[in-house]
Amino acid sequence: MSPLTLFARSDASTFRSENYKNRVFRKVSLEASSVLSSTKESRNRIGNRNHISSMGFDLPYIVGHVDEELICPICADILEDPVQSCGCEHAYCRACIDKWMQQKQICPVDRSDLLPGHLVPVSRLMRNMLSRLKIKCSFAENGCSQLLALEEYRSHVAGCEHNPKVVVECNKGCGMKVPKDELARHNCVFELRELVQNQMAEIAELKETQATQELRIVIQRRELELLQYYIAALRSTNPVMRNIGEQLDRYSLMQWGNGLPLANVRTWGSLISTPDTPMHVMVRDVLRTCGCPMHLLNLMVDPCHETRWPDALITLDARRENHHRLNQYVTRILPPLVSGKPCVVVLGGDNTHMPENLRPTLGLVMIFVDGVEEMLQEPLPDGEYI
Ligand SMILES: [Zn+2]
Ligand SMILES: [Zn+2]
Ligand SMILES: [Zn+2]
Ligand SMILES: [Zn+2]
Repeated sequence: MSPLTLFARSDASTFRSENYKNRVFRKVSLEASSVLSSTKESRNRIGNRNHISSMGFDLPYIVGHVDEELICPICADILEDPVQSCGCEHAYCRACIDKWMQQKQICPVDRSDLLPGHLVPVSRLMRNMLSRLKIKCSFAENGCSQLLALEEYRSHVAGCEHNPKVVVECNKGCGMKVPKDELARHNCVFELRELVQNQMAEIAELKETQATQELRIVIQRRELELLQYYIAALRSTNPVMRNIGEQLDRYSLMQWGNGLPLANVRTWGSLISTPDTPMHVMVRDVLRTCGCPMHLLNLMVDPCHETRWPDALITLDARRENHHRLNQYVTRILPPLVSGKPCVVVLGGDNTHMPENLRPTLGLVMIFVDGVEEMLQEPLPDGEYI
C-alpha cells in the first residue's frame, strides 16, 4: 500500500466534520508532508545542509503573521504556484496537487471529487495576500540578510552568495567552475589532469566513431556505384528504365550542384571552347574532389568542348549571336583548375528558363581564361529539376 493511500484512508474519518478541520489541519499536513516531501527531504539532506523545499515556501522562514488559508494542506508550507478546486475552493501548490492526483481524484481536505479540469487559478485576493508575504533567504543562518518576495525567492536562493553550493570560478588560475563549499579542497592540477584525461577518452571514442562512419560511407558509396552501373546497364536496353535513369541523374546532379556557390561570369568572351586533353584531365580531377557523382563524371567532362555544347553555343558565330542571352545562365563556380583557370558548371536543372537550344540536358563544365567570381547573394530557391 502506498503512503498516499494510507494517508487518504486515515484522514477520511478525521475530515468528516468541518469543525475538526482546524484542529486536525496541522496533523494532516504533517502526515501529507511526510508523504509528499519525503523526496525533497532526502534531496535536501544530500544536496544542501539548509532546508530548501521543492514545493511550497518554508513556513518558518516567512516573516510575520501568516493567514492559514495561505498554507498548502499537502506540504504544510506556504502555497507555491497555487491552484484551487472550483468546487470546494481549497487551494494547494500546483506541484503538490498534481502529485496527489496521480493517486487520488479527491480533494485531500474534504474528499470532494477533484478532476484535473476542476483546478483553476486562485482568487486575486489570495494572490495579493501571497504577494505581500516576505520570506528570509534559506541561507539566513549562513549570513544572508535578504528579505524576499515569494516570486524572487527561488532565483535568489539558487544564486545566493551564502549558498555553499553556488558555483564560483576557481581563483587560483585554472578557471574551472567549482561549488563554493568544495573550493577549499579543490586542487587545480588534479582537476585539470582529470579533465584532460576525460577529454582524451572522449577524443579516442570520437575517433573510433569517425573511423566506423568513414568505413560505412566507403561501403555505401561502393554499393551506390554498383547500383548505378546496374541502372546504366538496364537503361541501355529498356526505355522505361532509360527515363527513370535520366530522372535519377538529373536529381543526383542537382543534389550535388545545390552545394556549389553561384557564379558571376563577367566576360563570356573569355570562354575556352576547345580545351586540350590535359585540361580535360584537370576538369575531371576538380569534379572528383568537389564530390560530383562518380557515374556522371564522364558525362560532365566530355561536354567541355564546343562540339558537345547545345546548338546555340556550338560555334563562335552562334555564341556571338546569342551573346545577350548568355548572362541569363545560372552558373555555379567550381574550384579553379591547377592551371588557375576558373570553371563554372551549367546545370540543366538550374536553367529550365533558358531556350532549348541553349539548355544543357544534364550539365556541362565551362572553362574561362578569367572574369569569373563567386556571386555574393542568397542562392536561388530549389527549382523543379525532375
Ligand atoms: Zn504544497
Ligand atoms: Zn476541498
Ligand atoms: Zn541569500
Ligand atoms: Zn583551480
